Amino acid sequence: MFPLSTGMAVLAGLSLGVLGMLWAFYERRERRGGAAARPSAHHCVRCDAVYGAPRAGADTPCPRCGHLNRALRF
Ligand SMILES: [Zn+2]
Repeated sequence: MFPLSTGMAVLAGLSLGVLGMLWAFYERRERRGGAAARPSAHHCVRCDAVYGAPRAGADTPCPRCGHLNRALRF
């Protein structure tokens, strides 16, 4: 192993700090909105249409035939 200089240690600490702040920011945003804040994709089992919905959550009606379909999970 090679000894870390003070500058390298400070740089590594700052990098970890920035990563930690980004992680905390995205975790907080995820908890606020949850899965319902994200758009979702749906596949209609009746007419085979694939469509999107602005928010995930409950069953979403197909724009072509009106059948209620659950969001696709990836
Ligand atoms: Zn349909």
